[in-house]
Amino acid sequence: MEEDITTGLSVLQSHLDGMLSRVQHNSTTLKRLQRFEMSLLSLSSLAEMIEFILGESRALFDLDIISLCLMDPKAEIAAYLDTDNYDHRAREDLFLIGDDQILQSSFGLPVRPFLGIYQAASCDRFFPNPTRKPASVVIAPLMRRGKCLGSLNFGSYQENRFTHGMATDFIEHIASVISICLENNLNFEIMRRTSLVDPLTGVNNRRFLEQRIEEELDRSQRTRDPLSCLFLDIDFFKRINDGFGHPVGDQVLARVAGVIKKQLRSNDVLSRYGGEEFVALLSQSDQKSAGEIAERIRSSIAGLRFEYAGQLIPVTISIGAATYQPNQMIKRPVTEIAERLIQTADAALYEAKRNGRNRIENSGVLAMTEEAQL
Ligand code: GH3
Ligand code: MG
Ligand code: MG
Repeated sequence: MEEDITTGLSVLQSHLDGMLSRVQHNSTTLKRLQRFEMSLLSLSSLAEMIEFILGESRALFDLDIISLCLMDPKAEIAAYLDTDNYDHRAREDLFLIGDDQILQSSFGLPVRPFLGIYQAASCDRFFPNPTRKPASVVIAPLMRRGKCLGSLNFGSYQENRFTHGMATDFIEHIASVISICLENNLNFEIMRRTSLVDPLTGVNNRRFLEQRIEEELDRSQRTRDPLSCLFLDIDFFKRINDGFGHPVGDQVLARVAGVIKKQLRSNDVLSRYGGEEFVALLSQSDQKSAGEIAERIRSSIAGLRFEYAGQLIPVTISIGAATYQPNQMIKRPVTEIAERLIQTADAALYEAKRNGRNRIENSGVLAMTEEAQL
């Protein structure tokens, strides 16, 4: 009898221990989840958010594989990430897709998460790495206001880790927090872009240049790398407008911007400064390399064939170049250097116009003195 009670008690004790350890485990998970959410909410860019989700979720959920799929029908997300120099194409756990057909055709209307055994036909798309295929998966749609923004995909090498019929509250909760953050960040990027991008040409506007030039000069002073500036202006643009009409002038402008952009590196800054004028900032470029880049731009524009109604429209561009070379001995405020760099390139452009157009004038390295030269 006494033995029975002792056995009964020890069974109870072990049940209690089990329950206590589960409570403790749940409370630890809850704390980790709260930390995850707080960090997620504090991130201020799309790139940071993607890095965080893909980096932190694996540990938080003790996952073997994770991937993130984002809906990007107009390739806007790709463009935002490119602008931030985030190499999204190198991440094999992130993929941007054109529409939600893949989600819909695999799992029906993507409102609830899918949990279950990995099935190649429907799941392959979400776990593209051929050497690491999971045994069970979760594909959690990221829904916001009835719209599918993408999916968060978890994979485990254990077949019984994610099973059909398992409770999904926890996953749905995470998916909805991520969806809110994603929508916020996307809205922010759209706002940032519309306020800093010229709608006609798709390149940055003058406001963006004014912000970036100071950052570029700060960096140049830190790293001691030179920074060059090109001032570019389309030749006789008024004649194009007068001869072919303003809408054709607009098309020429947009095409010229595209050609200039193509000749620059991804970390260079191109902005439309005004009407038919552009300014390019070339990081880590000295006087010689700025001259070479300017020549590449000039010749590619001169070599283009713009046709309208069977008529060839001649388009050329003139360019003024100037270079800032940081000097340890002479430190001037960046606002002052920025102004001088643009002014000097503009003066060189004026010379290029005076000397016949479709040419480059390079005024070389800014002469810095202790005294302000403005
Ligand atoms: P130059 O070789 O000396 O630069 O001559 P230009 O004719 O290019 O220079 P000017 O400054 O006389 O004319 C610039 C023209 O650009 C005048 C303006 O109407 C036109 N322009 C400015 N913004 C736009 C625009 O957004 N679209 C179009 N189509 N034309 C524009
Ligand atoms: Mg002009
Ligand atoms: Mg002009």
